[in-house]
Amino acid sequence: MTSPVVVSPDAPDLEEIRKCVHCGICLPQCPTYRVLGEEMDSPRGRIYLMRAAAEGRIGLTETFARHFDLCLGCRACETACPSGVRFGSLLEATRAQLRRHGPPPRRRLLDRFVYAVFPEPGRMGAALGLLRLYRRSGLQRLVRSTRALRLFPRLAAMEGLLGDVPRPVSLPELHPARGRRRGRVGLLTGCVQRHLFPHVNRDTARLLTLAGWDVVVPRAQGCCGALELHAGRIDDFRARARRLVATFADVDWVVTNAAGCGSAMKEYGHWVGEARGLALRTRDVTELLADAPLPLGRLELTVTYHDPCHLAHGQRVRQEPRQLLRRIPGLRLVELAESDFCCGSAGVYNILEPGIARELLELKMTRIAETGATVVATGNPGCLMQIAGGARARGLDVAVVHPVELLARAADAYSG
Ligand code: SF4
Ligand code: SF4
Repeated sequence: MTSPVVVSPDAPDLEEIRKCVHCGICLPQCPTYRVLGEEMDSPRGRIYLMRAAAEGRIGLTETFARHFDLCLGCRACETACPSGVRFGSLLEATRAQLRRHGPPPRRRLLDRFVYAVFPEPGRMGAALGLLRLYRRSGLQRLVRSTRALRLFPRLAAMEGLLGDVPRPVSLPELHPARGRRRGRVGLLTGCVQRHLFPHVNRDTARLLTLAGWDVVVPRAQGCCGALELHAGRIDDFRARARRLVATFADVDWVVTNAAGCGSAMKEYGHWVGEARGLALRTRDVTELLADAPLPLGRLELTVTYHDPCHLAHGQRVRQEPRQLLRRIPGLRLVELAESDFCCGSAGVYNILEPGIARELLELKMTRIAETGATVVATGNPGCLMQIAGGARARGLDVAVVHPVELLARAADAYSG
């Protein structure tokens, strides 16, 4: 018997790895396998690599690391797997091992920038302020006309994602319930959501109050740590989880409207014992609104719905957003083929691996165009930006919105 080569904390659980029976049922659902056609870029191949490393048969080499860089962490393989392999936590543990023992990240500078800025609301706000200036000063038009960005594909990917950068909005800390009071919820405003989609947070708070919840929006709240968890930066992730436990100590539920944040928070218990209670009290906004009476007026729209990976596969929330959209009088919901197939956004994957992300986005945009819908609804800021960028690039005339935006618009249209 060989002994494990990797025996540090947070190593992938060998028992979990051994649950894989190599049946291959997950392969057609895996976006990287679909694009690259390589066994080692499939869930089964990656699990084989994890097991070989854990049993000391291979080392954590550059080649090993590359197969895990390429994984989107979309967890479509978990949904497909009849043996119940929890691929997401195996992946996070493998990335944690790579950070501790593996080769240095290939994209060290970009890596440092992403993790220094994205999870820090203050720095993110300052960076977006500069971007606003870049757009409004005409510099963006100039840079695009020179095509110089073609030389820097990752920078070009980041630039292509940029739509309008709204002005910062500060929400009141307390939004009192309307009508019959159900209790008190805390709203996680999210690092990207609060800066790029502040109206989604505003609409979320408003709908929750209409549903009878007092909504608390703590000013000092930090990041949930999702980006860090998915990158294997487990110590940073734990520190952020502990801070949020204190922030949301006195609410019945913590509500998120960003699938990636909700998915990471629901996993707190696996990584941080004292955050288990918070994980159990975390809900996506659509879960809390699903059974609430809401005053909804007519919207004559044809809408399709894209399932964010971390909502459909990570949280198993699929029906609630659809049910809510169907409750809007006049709204016609048309199903999107392969609606839970990744759009290529996957946190910062579209910046780090722009080639594969673009291929996945092309597939998604083709599917969207087939529906004939004029609106795409999806509940994650990364998907919102990625699909809106895809629509701009194709010249496809569709609005890309969070489901709560449609519900809030319908509430505005309600006349009693
Ligand atoms: S998480 Fe997604 S990309 Fe990674 S192996 Fe699973 S299905 Fe493939
Ligand atoms: S479906 Fe599950 S058991 Fe089958 S190969 Fe994929 S991960 Fe392994």
